[in-house]
Amino acid sequence: MPANVDQYVEENRERFLAELIELLRIPSISTLPEHQADVQQAADHVAARLAEAGLDNVEVIPTERHPLVYGEWLGVPGKPTVLCYGHYDVQPPDPLEEWETPPFEPALRNGNLYARGAADDKGQMYTHIKAVEALRAVTGTLPVNIKFLIEGEEEVGGASIARYVADNGEKLRADVALVSDTAMYAEGMPSLCTGLRGLIYAEVSASGPARDLHSGLYGGAAPNAVYGLIELLAKAKDDNGFIRIPDLYEDVEPPAPEEKASWQELPFDESEFLEKEVGAPALI
Ligand SMILES: [Zn+2]
Repeated sequence: MPANVDQYVEENRERFLAELIELLRIPSISTLPEHQADVQQAADHVAARLAEAGLDNVEVIPTERHPLVYGEWLGVPGKPTVLCYGHYDVQPPDPLEEWETPPFEPALRNGNLYARGAADDKGQMYTHIKAVEALRAVTGTLPVNIKFLIEGEEEVGGASIARYVADNGEKLRADVALVSDTAMYAEGMPSLCTGLRGLIYAEVSASGPARDLHSGLYGGAAPNAVYGLIELLAKAKDDNGFIRIPDLYEDVEPPAPEEKASWQELPFDESEFLEKEVGAPALI
C-alpha cells in the first residue's frame, strides 16, 4: 500500500498515461455526424474509468444527440458534495497540415502529450477521475461526496446537458460545482479557476428607407441604417471598457478582497501578457 497519494500516482503513472492515450485515440468529434460511434465509444470509455475509480451508479445516459456520463460517490454523509463537470468530445482537428504528429495518434514530446483533446478537455477531466481513484485507493475514502457529470456536446453548444440539468436538480444537487474545462495558470501551477467572462450575443437588424435613395439628393436627410448600427456599437462601451447597457452590472458582484489578494500572488506580467498572449505590443 503506498504511503501517500503522490506515491500512488508515481507508481501508476504508466497505466494512467496509457489509459489517457487510449481515450485520446478516439476521434470523438461531436460536430461531425460520421463520428457518432466514436463519440459513443468515448462516453463508454469514460464510464468504465469512473466505475474503476470506485464511483457508484455509473451510467451512460442517452440524449437526443450525444450521451452524458454520470457517476457518484456519496460515502461521507454530512460532508459537502462536489459536482465535477467535464466533456469528452473534441473539436475537428483541421487544418491537419499544422499538426506535427497526427491529432489522434497521441505523441509525447518534451514531457508533453500532444493530441486533439489532450488539453480540452480529456486531459483535465481525466485528472479529476484519477484523483478520486488515487484518494480512494490510498485512504479508502474521500474528504467530500462527489458526483461527475460529463458531456459529449460541449463543442456543439451543450443543449442536452442544459436540459438534463434543468430536469434533474435533485439528483445533481451539490454544494459546489468544479469545472474541469479550464487551464493551469502557468506550467507547474495547478489552478482552480473561480470565474470566467460571460458572453451575451444578439443579432441586431436595422432597416433603412423603403427604397433605394440617391445619395446626392437624400444623403444627410434620410437616416442610414448602417450608421445606426455603427452608433449602437460605438456606444456599447465607454473609454475604459465598461459596458454601457443600463442595469447590466446590477447583479454583478465585485471580486472579494481575498480573491483580489490571491490574484496578486499569481506570476502575472502585464507587458508579457500584452506582447506574447494578446499579440498587441503597441498597448504596452
Ligand atoms: Zn472544453
